[in-house]
Amino acid sequence: MKTVDFRPCECGVKRGFLDQRAAEKALGRAQAKRDRQAQRWEGVHPIHRENRIYECDYGRWHLTKQSRRAYEERVASYAA
Ligand SMILES: [Zn+2]
Repeated sequence: MKTVDFRPCECGVKRGFLDQRAAEKALGRAQAKRDRQAQRWEGVHPIHRENRIYECDYGRWHLTKQSRRAYEERVASYAA
């Protein structure tokens, strides 16, 4: 029985989705979560969302996103 919708991919990315639909669903969930977090920063410009999906050479689908480090630096500057 399959309990997760992604698996490690041979290209080295940990989250490899089997098809485009699964990747898009996961992307939607990730963006919804980020939107909820962004709403906590009132009066602040929305955080850029550069997330998208792509198909790699091994036929799996992956998500790309703004680097975690860039996001954390922005949050840190707001909190200061
Ligand atoms: Zn891959």
